[in-house]
Amino acid sequence: MVDYLPQENEKAQGVRDTGFYQSRKWIKVRDEIKLRDEMTCQFCGAPITGRYVVDHKTEITVDNMHDWDIAYNPANLWLLCQKCHNSKTHGTISTPNTTLW
Ligand SMILES: [Zn+2]
Repeated sequence: MVDYLPQENEKAQGVRDTGFYQSRKWIKVRDEIKLRDEMTCQFCGAPITGRYVVDHKTEITVDNMHDWDIAYNPANLWLLCQKCHNSKTHGTISTPNTTLW
């Protein structure tokens, strides 16, 4: 039995694995967005009572997570309900800033 590491192993590491979402800096910004967006989904307009996501409009990656404009810029962040976030992740919402809303 041989331990096998996929060649793309390094790329497989996601932002979540870096502890970004546990950082105090992120949590502070995230809380500010929750207040700014008044716990209302910025896509469907529903008040958020269950799970929510403070989403990066321009997707955050391990390559750009140290770029303030991407990671912490309020203009790149919006509050979504879990349902809308799933739709975005699955490509139903193609790009932010479209005329859909
Ligand atoms: Zn929503």
